[in-house]
Amino acid sequence: MLKLTPLKTNEKVQREQVRLLYSQGYIIQILGIISSLVVLFIYWDVVEHTKLIAWFITIVIVYIIRLRDVKKFRKLSVNEFDIKKWKNTYIISTFISGVIWSLLALFFESSWQATHQVALFIIYVGIIAGAFNSNATVFVSYLAFYIPLTAMLMYMILNQENELSYQLAFLISLYAILMYVTAIKYHNFLVNSLELRFTNENLVKDLKSANTKLTYLADTDELSQIDNRRSMNKYLLKEWQWHFENKKPISLLVIDIDFFKLYNDTYGHSMGDKCILEVANILQKNIRSDIDMASRYGGEEFVVILHNTDELKALNIAQRILLDVLSKQIPHSSSGISEYLTVSIGLGSMIPSMPNSQIKLFDLADTRLYKAKQNGRNQIMYN
Ligand code: GH3
Ligand code: MG
Ligand code: MG
Repeated sequence: MLKLTPLKTNEKVQREQVRLLYSQGYIIQILGIISSLVVLFIYWDVVEHTKLIAWFITIVIVYIIRLRDVKKFRKLSVNEFDIKKWKNTYIISTFISGVIWSLLALFFESSWQATHQVALFIIYVGIIAGAFNSNATVFVSYLAFYIPLTAMLMYMILNQENELSYQLAFLISLYAILMYVTAIKYHNFLVNSLELRFTNENLVKDLKSANTKLTYLADTDELSQIDNRRSMNKYLLKEWQWHFENKKPISLLVIDIDFFKLYNDTYGHSMGDKCILEVANILQKNIRSDIDMASRYGGEEFVVILHNTDELKALNIAQRILLDVLSKQIPHSSSGISEYLTVSIGLGSMIPSMPNSQIKLFDLADTRLYKAKQNGRNQIMYN
């Protein structure tokens, strides 16, 4: 159903409405000045010069003040301007413009030639329609402009001792009603669109943050909070391509906690979990977080990818990891090789010669891990 009153809305939409009101500010005021100049020329020969000039100067001053307001408004931050103040400023100034335009009718004389009479009629009707686009975004501001003009147009017509005047008044009333209804429709449509736009923007924001969370969850190991196997596989593929294209060495460590089943059997699963977390922290501390990656491959096994790192440098990092774990002195009474928790590390290093064959690097490091285990654990196996 057609609503004949403007829709109420929230602050965010009101802010946007007021912003739109001022967004066409320069053009509208300049067009206003040009129109008044045209009026000055049209009525130069029929209206007393002092009156006409006084009218022209007044309206130009009002337009200049309004231009200054637009300039001031444009300097304000969109999210901080005082909505009420700027809305009222616009309404008052548009009302004053409307009243001054209306005053033009006071110069009217029925002895004017038809062309001058029709011109005034057209100016009024045109100006009411012209203000629609800029003012109807905030409905009250359209009313403020349109009411004085329509009232004066009616006054002018009804004051003519002319048979046609009643028909004309009727026509003007129809025009006024039509403009009112159109302005309401436009205003309410705009409000609805803005509300929808802001709702959509919020939805997109929520969706983005939900997506970020989801990606984090999908790529992160819940216990250790480092990357999981899935994330490692993606990164390894990407890194492999980069090192292939740039002919640089990439290194990979496969790290496994020694005698961890026995550790669990001796100290319980939750103590075992703490060890996994401890090792994950040690790995993270020993890599460059922006270009390397430490991940939990599964169980008590971890994978470290070292960007642009040759075997010697990788060995250095592996040694630091091995020592850091040992220096934590986590008691492991059932370990066959030490009184503390230890890890074994298999190290692989390559300059990729083929794309998409990163599995080779992984297998190399994994085979070496197996050898490190066989060789007595708590050690690094490399070339
Ligand atoms: P090795 O020195 O040869 O690596 O022997 P291991 O006992 O460490 O290796 P094995 O593969 O036999 O056992 C791995 C154990 O790791 C078995 C499993 O209970 C334990 N484990 C796997 N995931 C978790 C976990 O999330 N938390 C805890 N506490 N234990 C885990
Ligand atoms: Mg193990
Ligand atoms: Mg294992």
